[in-house]
Amino acid sequence: MSTATAKAVQALHFDLPPLPYPEDALAPVISAETLSLHHGKHHRKYVDTMNQLLQKEPVRGATLEDVVRASKGKLFNNAAQAWNHEFYWNSLSPKKLRPSAALARRIDSDFGSQERFADQLAKAAADQFGSGWAWLIEDAGKLAIATTSNADTPMAHGKRCLLTIDVWEHAYYVDYRNQRERYLSGVIGERLNWEFAERNLGL
Ligand code: MN
Repeated sequence: MSTATAKAVQALHFDLPPLPYPEDALAPVISAETLSLHHGKHHRKYVDTMNQLLQKEPVRGATLEDVVRASKGKLFNNAAQAWNHEFYWNSLSPKKLRPSAALARRIDSDFGSQERFADQLAKAAADQFGSGWAWLIEDAGKLAIATTSNADTPMAHGKRCLLTIDVWEHAYYVDYRNQRERYLSGVIGERLNWEFAERNLGL
């Protein structure tokens, strides 16, 4: 760093991460049009706004998680949405996957069965009032379902996140209009990335 431009703390800056698959890879459950808007417009706006705010509000740390955990208000909302969206893209799979035997045993143990897990996740996600997120988390050694409102994220509260589903209207309105349940049925039945969940769980 040159002395002319040296600052005590250089503002953090994050790039919009690319989607981990082509825009049409999740069709027909989630269309290319939805992914183009959701990633290219919504996710990008959260990242851009966060970067603008970080110019004025320096945060100690290096990672996006550091920013989420250290911030409040508008910076928290945009940083958490940046983190949640990257986590959401990774929570989705172009191919239908199944949990590994080790993860399936934990689902059976903590929810009763795969079907009961799917039903509980769909119900929690459908019942989330307004904008938010539905999550599979690990809490005190057990798998659990959680929901958060607006930008909030279990990661900010020390919980280990395994999978998430975006239930903001922009996630499904182009494809399903107001029918959130149909979007959830497709995502939960066909598009959850169980390999990502297993990596997050350390399996
Ligand atoms: Mn979204």
